[in-house]
Amino acid sequence: ALYHAKKRQRGGAVLFDSDHEYQISFEAKIESALKQADLKNELSVVFQPIIDIHDQWTIGFEALARWESPQLGKISPACFIPIAERAGIVGSLTKPLLEKALAAASHWRTPLRLSFNLSAHDLNSSDSVLMLIGIIQRSGFDPTRLDLEITETAFAHDFEQVTQSVETLRRMGCGISLDDFGTGYSSLTRLHALPLTKFKIDRSFVKDLHLRPSSYKIVKSLLALSADMGLDCVIEGVETEEELAALIALGGTSVQGYLFAPPLLEHEAAKFAAEASGA
Ligand code: C2E
Ligand code: CA
Ligand code: CA
Ligand code: CA
Repeated sequence: ALYHAKKRQRGGAVLFDSDHEYQISFEAKIESALKQADLKNELSVVFQPIIDIHDQWTIGFEALARWESPQLGKISPACFIPIAERAGIVGSLTKPLLEKALAAASHWRTPLRLSFNLSAHDLNSSDSVLMLIGIIQRSGFDPTRLDLEITETAFAHDFEQVTQSVETLRRMGCGISLDDFGTGYSSLTRLHALPLTKFKIDRSFVKDLHLRPSSYKIVKSLLALSADMGLDCVIEGVETEEELAALIALGGTSVQGYLFAPPLLEHEAAKFAAEASGA
């Protein structure tokens, strides 16, 4: 009570209070719209190319969720995915998203890879893993061409169960990518315990790395670590030629970012792949 009284005496603090309330009601609005949504129709998937740094051919695409709500308009996944996670309903989004991504990828005329993002909730029970396996099998898409992207925070919740789920998917042939590599707090011992096939270096380290010695050193050591572990590494968020040149000099192998292409609609992605896959 004292804390509140104090806050109300100051203009800025009152603003903070109402900001906070605004934030809560906004989140509640999104949550209820998601719960009522016709997810099969309102959700769609776009595809961002992942590029070989040397020949600049397309290796595959990362599927990224898009939501257009009739009431709220277009909402970014950076906004609605965390809300769906907190509300415990992200699994109901994963199903239509993975189905759509696999259906689109099945039409690609060259054997490109598909990356798909998973949340902790997709991996914290054997039921949800069975759902994922069922969707992959029904799609007919070769699981050895599928990379499932998981962040370090997904392992923070229930390391044992999530590791077990990931192992099951790995045995099925799926690749396992550690997303946003470098932003979490995993110990190396922990990373070694996971059946990882790939790292994805977060774009926060890539921005102006040629001008920022601390970013440069981080990317350099993450690349060295992935090479030591014998894993591929995708560098995200490459926006400029200068960043690309620095990454080539550091021995990077694959890149993703606006310099090459933004996330593309399904038909644009198919066209991009036909022109830039060397096939
Ligand atoms: P992420 O997995 O790290 O995806 C990369 C994000 O960076 C995407 O944002 C992409 O559009 C953006 N990006 C790519 N290249 C550039 C660049 O050169 N510059 C900048 N500034 N940004 C770039 P997006 O599509 O808004 O997705 C945001 C996040 O939402 C994703 O981050 C991922 O964590 C989550 N997400 C997206 N789709 C799904 C999904 O289907 N399932 C789950 N669980 N999460 C998803
Ligand atoms: Ca990702
Ligand atoms: Ca990422
Ligand atoms: Ca991210």
